[in-house]
Amino acid sequence: MDPNKRLKLRDIRYEVRPACGICVHYLHKDTGPGAELWSTCRLHSYDHQKHTEKRRHLSVHATGWCPDFTADTSQLGGFEEFYQKSSSGTRPQSGSA
Ligand code: SF4
Repeated sequence: MDPNKRLKLRDIRYEVRPACGICVHYLHKDTGPGAELWSTCRLHSYDHQKHTEKRRHLSVHATGWCPDFTADTSQLGGFEEFYQKSSSGTRPQSGSA
């Protein structure tokens, strides 16, 4: 990462929070509209009422979160230092360290 970029991120107290987009259960799509923000949770499924195949994996938003979150730090690259997590494994509240 560019050193000035890192300094700026530190300066603005940038944080990466636990979210589906960096969870080991999140299916990363390569293409398609909104592929960066919408995808599928490979852990959770449900019985869909509209489609023929009854059981479906859950569609989720990359910024969402659930208590089954497990970090995939390989998705963080140079942003790993900005990743925040609480010792209890729950999503930190705004303003917590
Ligand atoms: S819904 Fe939970 S388990 Fe599924 S990708 Fe999101 S955080 Fe991970």
